[in-house]
Amino acid sequence: MKLICIGRNYTDHIKELANERPTDPVVFLKPDTSLLLKKQPFFIPDFSNDVHHEVEILVKINKVGKHIDKKFAHKYYDEIGLGIDFTARDLQNELKSKGLPWEKAKAFDGAAVVGKWMAKTDFKDLNDINFSLKKNNILVQQGNTEQMLWKIDELIEYISKYFTLKIGDIIFTGTPSGVAKVEPNDELIGFIENNQVFKLTIK
Ligand code: ZN
Repeated sequence: MKLICIGRNYTDHIKELANERPTDPVVFLKPDTSLLLKKQPFFIPDFSNDVHHEVEILVKINKVGKHIDKKFAHKYYDEIGLGIDFTARDLQNELKSKGLPWEKAKAFDGAAVVGKWMAKTDFKDLNDINFSLKKNNILVQQGNTEQMLWKIDELIEYISKYFTLKIGDIIFTGTPSGVAKVEPNDELIGFIENNQVFKLTIK
């Protein structure tokens, strides 16, 4: 399986990193080895002094598809989740400034947290899902899928022009503002609406 991640999908986060607003979704991949194993802490890698949390709504693909029209995209998933796209921001900035790919900063081991899945049918409107991240019990990021520049079905249409989607693939739909550095002993808890869907410790 693969993890397909979207960058710059929330205006407030584009502003906080002083990025340009994209004309197309920014897409990058993480390999399956970047998945943080369940119940494991996240170890800050020694090649970074500035690893940021990015909390993101996830979509799990349940059917093989290519060139999926957004009208039919809803048939390709029935679970919604929440995760973290850990990013070595110092390394990413260095790579970006050189015009190099971001993988070393985003796709390293443990850089993808995937929480508990919820049924799509649990939500009245997928374009109105509240989600948030607490660090040491303080709210640090919150968003609503309504704020996404490209909504879930539009992302599936776009991504599937380039990559065949397979069963079990996971889409990370981008982060709202509030990204910040994690430190050893931090505790991160993710919520979809009022449901706690993951909890992890930083080491
Ligand atoms: Zn991200």
